[in-house]
This record gives sequence, C-alpha cells and structure tokens, in this order.
Amino acid sequence: MQEIVPDLWDVDEIGPTAHVYLWRWAEGVTIIDTGMPGSTDKILAAVGTLGLQPSDVKRIIATHGDVDHIGSLKALKRATGAPVICHTVEKELLEHPNRRKPAGTPLGILIRPLFSLAMLLPQFHVEPQSPDRTHVDGDKLPEGFTIIHTPGHTPGHISLLHPERRILIAGDAIHNRGGKLGAPPPLFTPDMENAHRSIWKLAKKYGEEIDTIVCGHGNPIVSGGGARLQGLVDHIFEAETRA
Ligand SMILES: [Zn+2]
Repeated sequence: MQEIVPDLWDVDEIGPTAHVYLWRWAEGVTIIDTGMPGSTDKILAAVGTLGLQPSDVKRIIATHGDVDHIGSLKALKRATGAPVICHTVEKELLEHPNRRKPAGTPLGILIRPLFSLAMLLPQFHVEPQSPDRTHVDGDKLPEGFTIIHTPGHTPGHISLLHPERRILIAGDAIHNRGGKLGAPPPLFTPDMENAHRSIWKLAKKYGEEIDTIVCGHGNPIVSGGGARLQGLVDHIFEAETRA
C-alpha cells in the first residue's frame, strides 16, 4: 500500500486496474471505489495494515458504476457493514450494472454484444448493491469531502474534493495515464460533451482549491493539480475551437 499524501492511501496490492483509495479520518477509514470483483480480501488486508478492523470502515463511496470500480462493492459491504453511497443518478447502475453500455460511436455499437457477454464472465460479473444513501452535487461528508457531480463518463459520476487538504479524488472524470492528464476514454464515455464540461467545472470552479489529484487510472499528482487541470481544459477547448 502506498501513502500518497498523509491519510490518503492507494491499495496497489489489487494490481493494475482502477485504483482503490483509503481515506483515514477521525472516525475510522473510508473506502473510495472497490476495484474488480475479487479484490475484497486485499482491500481488507490494506485496512488491517492501518491497524484497523473491517468494522472501522465507516463508508464506501462509489465514484461510478463501472466494473473496475464497483466489482467488489457488495462483498465489501457484506464484510464491513459500512454504508454505501453514490450519486442519486448512479443508483441505477449500482443496482443494474449490466445496463452499462459502451458509447454510441460506431465502434462502441459494434462491441456492445461482446461487452454484454464479457459481463457474464465471473471475472467481470458485478453483484448489484443498492446504495444506503445517495447524494447530489455540493453535499458534504463528515470526512471533509464535498461531492462534485462530474457526469459524462457515466450519468451520475462523482468526484470528491477535500478543500482543507486541497485534494481531488477525480474517479474517471479525468485520468493520468502515462503522466498526462486526459479526458475519460471515448469508447466508454457515452456523453463526451458533458465529460468535457465536468473537467471544465473542476478546473474553473475548484482549480484554485486543488493541489493533489488522484484518478481512477494513472499516477497521482501531489502538487500543482489545479494548474494541470487548467492545462487540460485549454487543450480540450483549443482542440474544439480548431475542429
Ligand atoms: Zn475506471
């Protein structure tokens, strides 16, 4: 396990899928995203290395309803009893993970049957889990996070901002693959226009409050995150103006 900044841990034992983060706070620990199906034991072992028990898990936050983020949600809920939360609009995908579809691009439509078949394989099969509570943009959690609705990749995608600690947990609103910030992958982002607006919102509304950025995919950025976000916005909107 890797401590990115004080109190924020990356459970890298789960391997190179979507990151699972642990946030340690006064009342225990909060799990942000849950990795692929079968990641539960490794995540609980990581909680143990912080000297904490499954009962110390105070909340499980799903940034969105993709297999690599909610794969172990139900098993973790069962093991910890912690309340599960997501955005109000994302409740549908947590309860019906098979409704997730690739984008409506020609390639996306072409691979849809394959994608549906893959979802039946045990390694991709997600057990549905209803959230205990749902949230909307601007809601605040006792951990210190503000929920930011960042739709596009999925309709109810959320990012988490900790203004005091200047940390953004972006989920898949952005990624940092190969050390380069980018928009989410077009093939799995049915509403790219909204995904771009979400990045714009993160940069313009919150950029000055952000130093650290961690994403679902790619390495963490530990300083200057706001400027990096602004750089991505410039890149996206310049490209759109040229188009
Ligand atoms: Zn992902």
